[in-house]
Amino acid sequence: MMIRAIAICLGLALAPPAEAQLAKTQFGAAQTGSQQRAEPFGSYARGCAAGLVELPETGDSWQAMRLSRNRNWGHPELVDLVQDIGRHMNRIGWGGIYVGDLSQPRGGPMLSGHRSHQIGLDADIWLYPATDMTLTRRERENLSAVSMRRSNGAFVNSNWSRGQHELVKKAAQDPRTARIFIFPGAKVEMCRTETGDRSWLRKVRPWYGHHYHMHVRISCPRGASGCLNQDPPPPGDGCAEAQDWVNNILNPPPPDPNAAPARPRRELQLADLPTQCVSVLSSR
Ligand SMILES: [Zn+2]
Repeated sequence: MMIRAIAICLGLALAPPAEAQLAKTQFGAAQTGSQQRAEPFGSYARGCAAGLVELPETGDSWQAMRLSRNRNWGHPELVDLVQDIGRHMNRIGWGGIYVGDLSQPRGGPMLSGHRSHQIGLDADIWLYPATDMTLTRRERENLSAVSMRRSNGAFVNSNWSRGQHELVKKAAQDPRTARIFIFPGAKVEMCRTETGDRSWLRKVRPWYGHHYHMHVRISCPRGASGCLNQDPPPPGDGCAEAQDWVNNILNPPPPDPNAAPARPRRELQLADLPTQCVSVLSSR
């Protein structure tokens, strides 16, 4: 009896936290932003955010997609930036932009998908040429994004055009933007075809996936002392590094026999997030 009781105790102590205690479950349940001053807490992949606002589902030059996810919430600076990008794309010949996930209403880890997007400063914008600004809710659930890559991301495919180049460039040139993630073949293509100012290319970082959408990340807003910026990208346009990445896709280096196996990631609990996240969750 005694041994069994001890075993049960140990079992409880070692068991993974119940689903209900995980930060993603709690933040995933929030339906609206907190009625607090807008402020991100923590870092892009470990944090939460107070006072996020909703990107309106429909604007003159943007449409939020996959509305059922309720992830069209961001810091006001991010929401402004997304709208500015939409207006720009409208001026140069697209109807505007289709906008994927920003953050959950109070940020935090998500039940599915992204590791980042936790502090209201990340936005996914589709690379699909957005022409129709009158999609219904159902169409926004069902419309398939279109991939822009071939050869595992080493190259752009025939869907890529000047419009995508201008979309990425507009987002990168904005002083609020810290980084843009997109597949390596797209960065190399933009490096090849940009004939004017190249300084914006520095912010465009090759990354896995990201061939249906680009991911725009803005810097911590001024005065947000609880917000942790990422180190800025290395100096230079980063075009040689992107080409190296492409070369590795085309001719993969042999696997390193001494590489440690990737350790499974532990799910974040509320206690792993900045302490302010407790009040972000409980606030009205
Ligand atoms: Zn993203």
